[in-house]
Amino acid sequence: MSVQDHAVLIIGAGFAGLGMAIRLQQDGIDDFAILERADAVGGTWRDNRYPGCACDVPSHLYSYSFEPNPHWTRAYAPWHEIRDYLEHCVRKYRLSPHLRFGAALHEARWDAAAGRWQVLTTDGRRYSAPVLIAGLGGLSNPALPRIDGMERFAGPSVHSAAWPDRLDLTGRRVAVIGTGASAIQLVPQLAAQAAHVDLYQRTPAWVLPKADRALHGWERRLFARWPLTQRLARLASYWQHEARAFPLLKRPQWLRVAEATARRHLARQISDPSLRTRLTPDYTLGCKRVLLSNDYYPALARPNVELVTDAIREITPHGVVTTDGRERAADVLVWCTGFRVQGRLPAGTVVGRDGQDLRNAWEHANQAYLGSSVAGFPNFFLLTGPNTGLGHSSMLLMIESQLAYIGDALRTLRERGLRSAEVRREVQDTYNEELQRRLAGTAWASGCHSWYLDRNGRNTVIWPGYTFGFRRRTRHFDAAAYRLEPSPR
Ligand code: NAP
Repeated sequence: MSVQDHAVLIIGAGFAGLGMAIRLQQDGIDDFAILERADAVGGTWRDNRYPGCACDVPSHLYSYSFEPNPHWTRAYAPWHEIRDYLEHCVRKYRLSPHLRFGAALHEARWDAAAGRWQVLTTDGRRYSAPVLIAGLGGLSNPALPRIDGMERFAGPSVHSAAWPDRLDLTGRRVAVIGTGASAIQLVPQLAAQAAHVDLYQRTPAWVLPKADRALHGWERRLFARWPLTQRLARLASYWQHEARAFPLLKRPQWLRVAEATARRHLARQISDPSLRTRLTPDYTLGCKRVLLSNDYYPALARPNVELVTDAIREITPHGVVTTDGRERAADVLVWCTGFRVQGRLPAGTVVGRDGQDLRNAWEHANQAYLGSSVAGFPNFFLLTGPNTGLGHSSMLLMIESQLAYIGDALRTLRERGLRSAEVRREVQDTYNEELQRRLAGTAWASGCHSWYLDRNGRNTVIWPGYTFGFRRRTRHFDAAAYRLEPSPR
């Protein structure tokens, strides 16, 4: 089969991959392909479409800075508006000709002799390019726990990130497992529809009020007519969120103030003292992701909802059995159990210099330099790579910083006539030591179990700083941190 040659290959058509494509165009690079495993763009906002799904970062901040959207209908956009926004970006920036759907990455191998990445996708197509950029997303592979008997369940069993188009819950008994960011949005919707909901909670979450509201028509008209007003709204939101980083990073004890707010929120909405106790977390706020909701607790106070805090022992064809031996009947199982963030790529998916497999390189811990480059993998860049996650603001801020960094890296390669750039191992190691030093003493290291930590307890997800700190470090490509190979004459 013939090989399609490009200047750049991008994997993934979510915010990261599409943003990279727009950046390439702005830099005058038009010869690229975006390989997407699904049949539509949107990434997480294509996959997560469960009832109630919305963003918990304000819309003004959860969009590209270069593409403000005056049409958001709410302060926190529902998932379909975000998906529509990304589709709008595809149309506006004419990205369609570059998109290859149904093309999951099967193998990407660095060909040192040619100075190119040779890529094979699951549909059997072959691609080749000197530069490979992975925008795979951290929250893209649903996680299902292993629970005895789960495969024998007789009714529908659905994960929040794979919600079926038609699932009528009217009159049915629903068992929801998990109480994270997805569950708190979904449960109020299920409770309003189903006959009964059992919510299986392992760890209660800290929940703060959500300052959500419909945006008025006049506000939307104002933003459309005077874009500066929306930029100011974004700026205000930016600094409001940035201020939240300080206690998470430097003074976790100050988070007791926010814990008091969360406790008051709980007390206002739940009058039953025993239910309140079971919903009160026993770890520092911020250690796990802080949740925002106004309708989660009221849903738990409904007579058709039961919060179950005994651990699950097994699943039977018609219900869920807890460790106290009690079986609760269920017609539908809903898994709100999150994503395989710490999961690893199958062996042979990304193979760099001298046959090094990314899976092996990350055997002990996912590590990169600036979340963007990995030693041993020339001309390979990651978007939202290790330690670029945020607990306090919008991922778009991190993505845009990386777009600037990678864009500048490609410009450096071009202008200096380089064949490849590969981050120096010692630079990557020093950087990761610094990250781990900075993470110690933060709220994320205050002793809870979270998906930010890998199996060795190492935080490979969070950026331990302000977003402007990351922006400063990624403003320019720091060629001195890289092994540069000149192009052969
Ligand atoms: P999550 O935060 O990882 O929550 C998973 C839940 O499942 C937790 O409550 C966990 O309990 C529970 N769980 C896992 N295995 C279990 C088991 N064997 N038995 C019982 N319970 C189990 O997943 P998520 O809610 O899908 O959210 C993931 C991330 O996606 C969020 O943190 C956020 O970054 C993003 N998200 C964002 C939005 C948004 O509004 N922007 C919305 C949804 C999701 P433990 O706490 O005890 O582990």
